[in-house]
Parts: sequence; structure tokens; C-alpha cells
Amino acid sequence: TLPVLAGVQPPVRGSTYPAAIIDGEARFPEGAPARALKSPLDGAPLGSQLLADPALAAEAVERAQAAFMAWRTVPAPRRGELVRRIGEAVRQNKRELARIITLEAGKIPAEAEGEVQEWIDICEFAVGLSRQLHGLTIASERPDHRMMEQWLPLGPVGVITAFNFPVAVWAWNAMLAFVCGDSVIWKPSEKTPLCALAVQTLVGQAIASMDEAPAGLSQLVVGLADVGEAIAADTRVPLVSATGSVRMGKRVAATVGARLGRSLLELGGNNAMIVTPTARLDLALRAIVFAAAGTAGQRCTTLRRLIVHESVLPELLPKLVKAYESLPVGDPRVPGTLVGPLIDAASFEAMQLALDDAKIQGGRIVCGGRRIADNVPAGGFYVQPAIVEVPGNLKVVCHETFAPILYVMTYRELDEAIALNNGVPQGLSSAIFTERMQEAERFMAAAGSDCGIANVNIGTSGAEIGGAFGGEKETGGGRESGSDSWKAYMRRTTNTINYGDALPLAQGIRFDV
Ligand code: NAD
Repeated sequence: TLPVLAGVQPPVRGSTYPAAIIDGEARFPEGAPARALKSPLDGAPLGSQLLADPALAAEAVERAQAAFMAWRTVPAPRRGELVRRIGEAVRQNKRELARIITLEAGKIPAEAEGEVQEWIDICEFAVGLSRQLHGLTIASERPDHRMMEQWLPLGPVGVITAFNFPVAVWAWNAMLAFVCGDSVIWKPSEKTPLCALAVQTLVGQAIASMDEAPAGLSQLVVGLADVGEAIAADTRVPLVSATGSVRMGKRVAATVGARLGRSLLELGGNNAMIVTPTARLDLALRAIVFAAAGTAGQRCTTLRRLIVHESVLPELLPKLVKAYESLPVGDPRVPGTLVGPLIDAASFEAMQLALDDAKIQGGRIVCGGRRIADNVPAGGFYVQPAIVEVPGNLKVVCHETFAPILYVMTYRELDEAIALNNGVPQGLSSAIFTERMQEAERFMAAAGSDCGIANVNIGTSGAEIGGAFGGEKETGGGRESGSDSWKAYMRRTTNTINYGDALPLAQGIRFDV
């Protein structure tokens, strides 16, 4: 049972999907191992995915490097024209792409379409950026001299992505890389290769429509960790942008670091929200439920820890439990569903393990946590989102469990709440609900939240593409998407130009020969 993917049909032979698309050509290597694809919605078979090996990854890198040599000299606004065409194609195929995301990653249609919209948004951002890759002019200390800075194309960029944003994370990277003059080698999650193949097909058509764009600009290699490792180790790849677990990030950082390459890491989060006594609880409640239970808790920015003022908890907790108990969890294809399935059995088991640990370590399960059996497809892992009351950042709370578990704890003084917010190894997203300007400002200031994202009166998830996205500590320190994140995809040169008749040295040094 193959999905019908009008407009964005990935290449397929029988029911076997290719291990790679290199220079626009689908590759079905003889004897390559295959992985059976199953939909998280109902466990239905989706076909067989061939897996690439490190040798195929090396070929993709070689072709990406050749493409880079041509692409880097194409004027940046013309590179923007390619991204404009990609954006057009995405608009026309938004529904179809979203359907594949739902089928393969289990997202509800609204969120799947939102993910495709992020791709459209970053296209528009990148098109504008293609005319704004500005450097600086700097005052020189020497007479008749001028200094300037230029941003130039960097090289082939390796992009390793996670299952939970199978389209948008690649798009954040690739659209910026393309306008910056770079080529891209993409290693998607082995759990969501169909999204990647569909995306690559669409991008391939846009590339083919433009004479200046080399076929090798966008390479796709579907494989396991060994393929990611091979890209990370390849000295021809100056930048590796990797999104996924902390465990993966530590490996990639070590491999890229050992060859003194650059890595851009977007790793796990453990995001908290502080609910103060002045918080508007009606807004806070909606923000909590969307951030904690939405996407079945499978966002890097999912709300995992709720830090509530002790005076507010007696009012907030019953309301939260009521909202959780009426949440429509089920098949995303059924209208009205707000929470879909977990990605697979392993994810469900990890959730159960975390709930057991929480109990052992002193937590109290307030509601949820069990697998749902009624009115959902039998082959999917549908769970009731859980709320667990904890006395603070227990050991289990410090670890990111990629499932809908919300740990709730209380505080008395704001300093204590901020310490709890910061008291975990990760530092991606954070939020405070308050009507007091002082509290909001303290939360965002130097001694406040230590996260890359600190929000006021909105939840932790659902960032816009205009800002730089990423986090500190074990989240990896990388920034992607908006603001000046593009600088990571370019190399900076400093130029000093002498237009005089003498050769004065900097710092007044005399060296007369
Ligand atoms: P994962 O770490 O299992 O896999 C991510 C990618 O890394 C996959 O493509 C995988 O094949 C690859 N990989 C695994 N080991 C590797 C290695 N040693 N070398 C190179 N590549 C390797 O993550 P996942 O389960 O797909 O995704 C969930 C995780 O991703 C969560 O921790 C989540 O917080 C994180 N995430 C972070 C962000 C962010 O922007 N910070 C966004 C989305 C997801």
C-alpha cells in the first residue's frame, strides 16, 4: 500500500525507495540493505527503504563539492531566484507535502501544514536575504587605506536531521545555504525518508528549471548513523549542521571537531514555563496544553516542566487536568484530533520507563500516561498525555523524554523559579506568564533564563522563522533560521586596501629596507 503523492511523488521501483538522490538521479544500489517503512498512524507498511553506505555518502559529497565550485560564482540575487522558484513549488504542493508528513511522522494536518508553511516562510526570508548578505566597511588607522569585510560562500554543507521536523529543519538550513552560495548534502532521519525523497524531488525540479543551478546543488543520502558519521568526518564538508539528540550531537561535535571543522548543533531541550501569581490563567492554560501535549510531546521545544507559584497551583492544576482529560487524542486523519501518535514502540517504552522512574524518585502521577486502545488504529502508539507532580528537578526530570510528560513543581520566590528553570543540562526554550513588567524583564535579563529562547506570555514551542533559533548548554549552541544565522553558512574575509603611494605598517611599526 503505497501512498499516492500527486505532484511530489518520490522516485520508487515497485515498492522500494532509493538510497540516495545524487545529481538529481535516484540511486538503487545492488545489494543495499533495506528497511521496512511503517506509518506511525496505524503500523501500515509504506514500502521498503534502501539504505546508503559511507561510500555513497562520499560520492554525494564529491558531487556537492563540484556543484559548489560553480554555484559560488552565481550572483547571490540569482541564487535567491532559485529559492523563489522552490518556494512557488512548495506553495503549490503544500497539502500533498503535509499529507506525507502526517503519514510518516504522525502529525495532525494543521501542524503538518504549519511545518510546510515554515518552509515557505524561510524561502521568502532567504530570497530577501539574497540581496542583503552585507559586509562592513571599517575605518583604517592608516592613511589612504580602507578596510572591509565580505561574506563569501563556504562550501558543501552537511545537514543531518531528526524525525520530528522532517521537512522544516532541512529547509531552514538548505534555503539559507543555497542563497549563501553553498551546496547541501542531506542525511534525513531514517524514520522519515519519504518526506525527504518528496522534498528532494520538488527541489530537483526547481534546480532543473534554472540554467545557472548545477544538478548537484542538493544531494540526498538516506542511511543510518554510519552515513551521518561519514559526512561529519569528511574534510570536504566545512560545516555540519546536525539536529537530534544530545547523544548524537556529542558524537558529531567530536568527529567534526577532531578535523577542526565547524558544527552547528540543534539538540534536545528540557523546556520550562514559570506561572506567576499575576499570570492570566486562561491564556496560560491554552499555552501549556499546546506546548506540552501538542505534537504528542515530540517537539524539541515541547513544554516539559511547569514551575508554578505555590499560591496558583490549587486553581491551575484541576483546570489543567480537565483540559488534558478532554484532549482529542487519536488518528490525525480524523477531523478534530489534536494529538496524534508517538513515532514508534521504542518511544512509548521510553515514556513508560520515565513514568516508572518518576514514581520511584518521588513523583506523583496526576493523570495520563497510558496507551489508548479504543477508537484508535491498533498499530499506532497513542498515549494519554501525562502530568506528574514532582518536588523539583529530579534525575528523571533532567533528562529529555521525547513524549508528552509534563512535570509540575512549585516555587515561592522568582529567584527560586529561575534557578529551577536553569537547573537542567539543556537550554533551548523557556517562558514566563506574568503581568508584572519587572518579573518579565528579570526573566529575560542576564541573571534570568539561560536558554536560547525566553518568551513572555506565550508558550515554549512554535517559534517564528524570523528569529534565530537554538539553545545553550547541551542543546548545542547553534542558531538557525532568521536574524543573522546565515553567517554560519558563509566565510568571512577581512580586506585591507592601500590606495596611497606609501606602505605604512599597522601599529606604527617601522621596518625600512
Ligand atoms: P536522533 O539523535 O536519534 O537522530 C537524529 C539524526 O541523527 C538522524 O538522522 C540519525 O540518523 C542521525 N544520527 C544518529 N546518530 C548519529 C551519529 N553518531 N552520527 C551522525 N548522525 C547520527 O534524534 P531523533 O529521535 O530523530 O529526534 C529527536 C531529538 O531531536 C530530540 O532530542 C529533539 O529534542 C531533537 N530535536 C532538536 C531540535 C532543535 O532544533 N534543537 C529540533 C528537532 C529535534
